[in-house]
Amino acid sequence: MRLDKFVLKSTQLTKSEVVTQITKGNVFVNGAMETRLNCQVHEDNKIEHCGVLLVPRPFRYMLMHKMANTLSANNDGHYPSLLTALEIKNKDELHIVGRLDADTTGLVLITDDGRWSFNITRPQSDCPKVYRVILAKPINDEAVSKIQQGLLLQGETKPTLAAKVDIINDYEVKLTIYEGRYHQVKRMFFAVGNRVNKLHREQIGNVMLDIPEGQWRLLTHAEVMSFS
Ligand code: URA
Repeated sequence: MRLDKFVLKSTQLTKSEVVTQITKGNVFVNGAMETRLNCQVHEDNKIEHCGVLLVPRPFRYMLMHKMANTLSANNDGHYPSLLTALEIKNKDELHIVGRLDADTTGLVLITDDGRWSFNITRPQSDCPKVYRVILAKPINDEAVSKIQQGLLLQGETKPTLAAKVDIINDYEVKLTIYEGRYHQVKRMFFAVGNRVNKLHREQIGNVMLDIPEGQWRLLTHAEVMSFS
């Protein structure tokens, strides 16, 4: 790994602070000052910052199949947090990437790597999220065309980004969106005169939901890297 990455993963420094610290000569590799940001290092090297030995934190990345009536936040006294079902050490360090409504089921990403989750949730990320949507009324061509082009949600001034709609049947669609506004899917269908009866997320980026409800698994290296 590059030295700047290593220092970033082992300290609380920001990227620009890491650059400053390395270029100023405050980082030593095996006892020698190292000022090249791209110097290749590995965990067997003794890397020190201002005399302190650096030990990189191993980040954790996982996916969970959220059940209905669970929260992708802390317990609210009404519904339990979906983290309750996660039997894992140091749960407090983990956070859920983005939010699903309590009644929405499906794919949720969980990590302790804030930079990684920001890559997924930041407004410019363009990360596709795929939802299976069951509707109260049959879908029509006009609604599909408005959703595909982007539409104005109630109370907002900026239209939604163009989305993809695959029709499964009159009452069911697969919707791909590239942003994550508050209650976005439900509000998009409300804006075209329909209502969402059931919402299920089956994919984020390249990561597909492939485990039963209530279960979780670690992400593969390739899945983790696909968001970096
Ligand atoms: N859009 C919604 O309306 N709800 C969700 O849970 C996720 C996306």
